[in-house]
Amino acid sequence: MTISTVSGRAALPDVQSVRPCSSGPSAIDLRGVSKRYAGQNGILALDNIALTVRAGEFLTLVGASGCGKSTLLNLVSGLDQPTSGTVEVDGQAAFMFQEHALFPWLSALDNVATPLRLRGVGKNDRHAQAREYLAAVHLADFADRRPHELSGGMKQRVAIARTLATHAPILLMDEPFGALDAMTRDLLHDELEAIWRERNLTVLFVTHNVREAVRLGDRVVLLSSRPGRVVQEYDVAIDRPRRVEDPGVAALAGEITAALRHEVARHGA
Ligand code: ADP
Repeated sequence: MTISTVSGRAALPDVQSVRPCSSGPSAIDLRGVSKRYAGQNGILALDNIALTVRAGEFLTLVGASGCGKSTLLNLVSGLDQPTSGTVEVDGQAAFMFQEHALFPWLSALDNVATPLRLRGVGKNDRHAQAREYLAAVHLADFADRRPHELSGGMKQRVAIARTLATHAPILLMDEPFGALDAMTRDLLHDELEAIWRERNLTVLFVTHNVREAVRLGDRVVLLSSRPGRVVQEYDVAIDRPRRVEDPGVAALAGEITAALRHEVARHGA
């Protein structure tokens, strides 16, 4: 497995309006990737996955529970190794989980400042930067709150700000909004989309919510279950900003859901 790491950005990247074109340099490249977990029954979680995420692309990955979405993210992040195949990641990738995983004893500000502290950024600088990241997720007034004083949506915003503070150009998101109510999720979709555009990030976003996948993705990749294989890719040619209830989003989500149902039924059979 190759993980080549580019150095982190020194400060907030400039706003860029250029969107990715259909071809271009890849940020994440999986070739022939299979993953079999050790153990008596040795589950084949991923089977011969070929997947490229282009630099600046927002790619969403959908599939039924257990199809290997988290396994795939773990391989991309380097937390785990494939059994066969290669995983190449061009740049640092930061992971954000469904559970916000904030440090409960630290304020929102210090949570966001943690990646900066780990890189040796001095206190004044890291607090100034952390305030900018909190402002980017509309939490400038909540810097001193501890996680238990924040709502679920606010905690996920702090987690996004902390992920941004890693300066990683690639975000790996594992069902980050799965536990939120629909209204909060809508807001966070808008905010994440704005951050992705402004900072020209590459996002690999895993969800089992097909509408969310279509709302956010430039491309949606559908995985089958046990073993996880790429069943189909869908280009989302719907203008942004999108709403989850847009007719175009609903129509494509319907098509993908039908394919997903087919996969689940096939697996059940
Ligand atoms: P998803 O994120 O799509 O729900 P996962 O990647 O978590 O799927 O899991 C894919 C398959 O691999 C499942 O059958 C799961 O039970 C199995 N699996 C996941 N992690 C492990 C592990 N550490 N050891 C053994 N089997 C695992």
